Amino acid sequence: MRFCPRCAAPLAQTEVGGASRMACADVACGYVHWDNPIPVVAAIVEHEGRVVLARNRSWPENMYGLVTGFLERGESPQQGVAREVKEELDLDAVATSLVGVYPFERKNELIIAYHVEAAGAISLNEELVDYRAIVPARLRPWKFGTGLALADWLRGRGLEVNFL
Ligand SMILES: [Zn+2]
Repeated sequence: MRFCPRCAAPLAQTEVGGASRMACADVACGYVHWDNPIPVVAAIVEHEGRVVLARNRSWPENMYGLVTGFLERGESPQQGVAREVKEELDLDAVATSLVGVYPFERKNELIIAYHVEAAGAISLNEELVDYRAIVPARLRPWKFGTGLALADWLRGRGLEVNFL
């Protein structure tokens, strides 16, 4: 982001509120790019006793992850996560419970992770190319972002956590 979205003047590194931020060079405009983390909902989808991990079209061959997405205006995180599971896997959320909230600094996101018990027949939308349904005891979480939620969920079920 190099120009002010409000007045089109250049942005410059400026000390605002105790941190260096990109702010409008026109002091009268006063725009500040706060760059606050954006909330993202993530689903540990449990379907027929297995956890469904999906591979996004743009991801490398062996990378599978949780269903995630941004919230719509006016939507609760719980509604949002159920909507994402329906959109991406065509499964209906039967029960949702919060696993935890996790900062993900690399993407400047805040992950709100849910366990979603889901029913129906899996059908992937165009964002996804493949999925794996894995029994919980065989899951290998990754050590960042949504993987930390998966690890907490496994611990909560009394399972040993073996990171990838
Ligand atoms: Zn401006």
